[in-house]
Amino acid sequence: MDSDADEVRATLVRNGYNTAVEKIRATEYPQLQDITYLDHAGTTLYASSLVQKVADDLVSNLYGNPHSQSPSSQLTSKRIKDIRLRVLQLFNVSPADYDIVFCTNATAGMKLVLEAYTAQVGAFQYCYHKDCHTSAVGIRELSGDTKCFLRDEEVEQWLEGGSTTDEVESKTRGLFVYPAQSNLSGRRLPQSWARKVRNSGRKFYTLLDAAALVTTAPLDLALMEPDFTVVSFYKMFGYPDLGALIVRKSSPGMLEFLENRRYFGGGTVAAVTSQGDAFHAKRSGVPHEHLEDGTLSFHSIIALDIAMTVHKDLYGDFSRISRHATSLVMHLQQQLAKLEHYNGRRVCTLYSESFPSTTDESTVDEWLRHQGPTVAFNMRREDGAWVGYSEVEKLAAVKRIHIRTGGLCNPGGVESYIGLNAWEIKQNYEAGHRCWDDQDVMRGKPTGAIRVSLGAMSTIDDVENLISFIDEFYVERERSTLQKELVRGDWGGKATAVVESITIYPIKSCGGYKIPAGITWEIKPHGLAWDREWCLVHLGTGSALNQKQYNKMALIRPSLAMEDGVLTVSCVGSPASINISLASSELDALQSSASRVCGDKINALTYSAPEIIEFFSAAIGVPCTLARFPASLASKRHFKPHLATPQSGDTELCAAKQPPILLSNESPILLINRTSVDHLNEEIKISGGKAAKVDVFRANIVIAETGPKRIAYSEDTWKHLQIGKEFIKLLGPCRRCHMICIDQQTAIQDEEPYVTLSKTRRIGGRVLFGQHAMHLPVKSRLSRPGIKVGDLVRVLGFEPKTLESGD
Ligand SMILES: *Cc1c(COP(=O)(O)O)cnc(C)c1O
Repeated sequence: MDSDADEVRATLVRNGYNTAVEKIRATEYPQLQDITYLDHAGTTLYASSLVQKVADDLVSNLYGNPHSQSPSSQLTSKRIKDIRLRVLQLFNVSPADYDIVFCTNATAGMKLVLEAYTAQVGAFQYCYHKDCHTSAVGIRELSGDTKCFLRDEEVEQWLEGGSTTDEVESKTRGLFVYPAQSNLSGRRLPQSWARKVRNSGRKFYTLLDAAALVTTAPLDLALMEPDFTVVSFYKMFGYPDLGALIVRKSSPGMLEFLENRRYFGGGTVAAVTSQGDAFHAKRSGVPHEHLEDGTLSFHSIIALDIAMTVHKDLYGDFSRISRHATSLVMHLQQQLAKLEHYNGRRVCTLYSESFPSTTDESTVDEWLRHQGPTVAFNMRREDGAWVGYSEVEKLAAVKRIHIRTGGLCNPGGVESYIGLNAWEIKQNYEAGHRCWDDQDVMRGKPTGAIRVSLGAMSTIDDVENLISFIDEFYVERERSTLQKELVRGDWGGKATAVVESITIYPIKSCGGYKIPAGITWEIKPHGLAWDREWCLVHLGTGSALNQKQYNKMALIRPSLAMEDGVLTVSCVGSPASINISLASSELDALQSSASRVCGDKINALTYSAPEIIEFFSAAIGVPCTLARFPASLASKRHFKPHLATPQSGDTELCAAKQPPILLSNESPILLINRTSVDHLNEEIKISGGKAAKVDVFRANIVIAETGPKRIAYSEDTWKHLQIGKEFIKLLGPCRRCHMICIDQQTAIQDEEPYVTLSKTRRIGGRVLFGQHAMHLPVKSRLSRPGIKVGDLVRVLGFEPKTLESGD
C-alpha cells in the first residue's frame, strides 16, 4: 500500500508536482484544516501572509481617493500607475500596445466592451464558441445576428471563409468571443484564433475570456493578441475581488471605437455642464481614462500588487503552478476513469478528453495545451442509472469536500457534454427545474455535472480524499446484500405498533414541542394542529430561514400553553423568552408580506414588534423576524410529490387531490418507525460512527412496533394506517439531506446518520428515510379528530372509506 503511494508520488513529482506546496498549505491556509477544497475554478484561496501584508500596508500608508492633488491622493495614483504596468508585464505585454481597465470582475469587463458595441450605428454581429461562460452568452441579447460555434472546426471554417463584401462595407464591427479555457470541462481552446480573425480581414474584434485559464496557467497576450481580454483576479490569487479588461489599443481603429461609448461618469469626463446645452467633453487618451467610470477600487488594486508578490514568492511563476496542478489532474482523471462496479460497469462518465496514461514529458506538455486542472463528470450506478449530482454534493459537504455541481454557468457545455438538447432544457424548465435546485436527474438524464477543479495550493491528499470518497460511496463492490430496494413485506392488518411520541414544530426548522402523554392532539388535513404555523423570515430577503443554513435554529424551543392561549419561545443558553398569542384576532395586527418557503411564493404575516425581532435575531445571529402562516392561508401550498422518489407511486395523486400543507417542506405529516431508526443505528455502530438520536429526523409521529417480528423499513410498504380512531394515508418515502446531521440538542453538526444512510438507503438515487403522510377524514364523526401517545397503530390492508370518497 505504502509503496503504491510512493510510486504515485514519484510519478506526480516527475510530472511537475511541487512538494513544497504541502508545507505552504500548513502555514498559509489554516482555513483549510480538515477540508478538501476542490473548487479553484470558483475561486482559488488567499494565503494568510497576503491578508497580513495587505493589512500592514493599509495601516502604514494613507491612501486617499485618487482623483485629486493631496499627498494621500497622489500616493494612491502613483501606486496604481505602477500596478497597471506590473499587471501588463504579468501577461507578457507592454503599455505601448496594451492598456488595463480595472473593473469589478470579468463579467463587468465584457459589459464595458458591450457598451462600445451598442454605441455603433446598426446592430452588430455576434459570434461565440459554445464553451463560453453564461456571462458571455448574454451578450447576444444586445446583438443583431448571433452565431454559436458548436465545434472548433466551425470556427476554423468561418475564419477560412474570409470577409464578405457586406461585412467590409458595413460600418458596424462584429464581435467574436471565446474562452481560453472552459469553466465547465477545463478544456483549453486554441491560442491562435484572435490573430487569425485579424488576418482574415473580417471586421471583427476578438474578446478572449481568460477568467478560467488564469487561475492556474500563464496568460501570454503577446502570443495570442486578442483585442480584448477579461480576467477576474480573485480566481488567480483568492483576493482581492477585482477584475480587468485588457485592451489591445494598437489594434486598428481601437481607440476611436472605444471613444464611441456614450456613457460617462465621474472620472471619465474632461468637462461637463448640467445646464444650458448639456455640454460634455470626454477624457481622451488611453482607454482606461475614459472607461473607468467612478472611483477605482483603489484599496483592492493595492491589494492586487501585494497578491502578485506573495503568490510569486510562494509558488513561483504561473507555468510552475500549471505543471503542479496538471500533474494532479492527470492522476485524478486516470483514477476516476478506472473506477468500476463489481459488474464491470464504469462509475464515472468524464466530460473531458482522455489522455494517454504514459507520463513522459511530452504527455504533460500535451495536457497543458489542451486541458486545465478541472474535471467535470457524472456517475452511474451499477445498473447504469445516473447518480444525482446534488445527492453527491450533499454527501461531499458532510465529508467536508467542497465541489461544485449543476449547470456550472456553462450552457453550451452542459448541452454538448451531457447530451441535453435545447428542447429538453426548456422542457425541464417548464417541469420546474431551476439553476441551483436539486432536480439533478430528469427524464433519465442529468441536468448538470459535478466539477472538481484544482489550484496552486492543491495537494495529493486533496485528490486522494476525493477518490476514496467516490470509491467508498459510489462504487458497488458486489451485488449488495444491504437493503437498496424498498422492502416488500405482506404486513396487511397484522403488524401492530404504538405511537411512541408525537412532536410538532410550531416554528418551521426550529426545535420541536413534544405533545405530553395523555393529551389528544388535533389532527387536520394540513397536519397536526399548530405544526409549522410560524416560520422565521430574513428581514432583508423575506425568505424563510432553515436549519440547514442556520443550525442554531435547533436551539429555539417553542412550547404551547393552550390554556393561556400562548406560544412561549425560549432559546437554549439564554434566560430570555417571549410569548406569542395564539388568538386569530392577533392576525389583524400583523403585516402581510411576500415571502418564500422552499421556492414557493407565499404571503406570510410578519411580526414587527422590536422585542420579537430582537429575540430571534439574537438567537440565531441573523436579522430576522417571526412570521405566521395561518391555516386559512394554507390552500396555496400542496404536497410536493416530485421531491420524493419516483418509485413511491405518489404520481397517483393528481394535483387537485394533493393535500394542503402549511410551512412544512413537503407533506402534512412525517412519520418514522423506531425499528428503522434502531436498524440504522446498528449499521452506524458497525462502521464506528455515532448513533443518531431519533429527533434528528424531525418526525411528527414516531411509532414503535410491538410484535415479535419487526422489520426495518417495513413502513415503506404500508399504504394506510389506523392510529387510535384515525386513518392515515402514507404518501411515500421522505428524501433526506444532511440536515439530519444536526444534533437537535446542541446544534452541532456530525457526519452521521447521513453518511450511513447514504450507503444503506440510497434508492433510485435518493436517500430515503421515513414516510410522508396525511390524515384521512372519515364519515360521521362526532368529536374532533386527534391522536395521542400510546395509541395503537394498525397497518390496514384496505383503503378506508373517507369523507371525500363517500361524498
Ligand atoms: C468565472 C468565469 C467568468 C465570470 O467571472 P466573474 O468574476 O463572475 O465575472 C467568466 N468566464 C469564465 C470562463 C469564468 O471561469
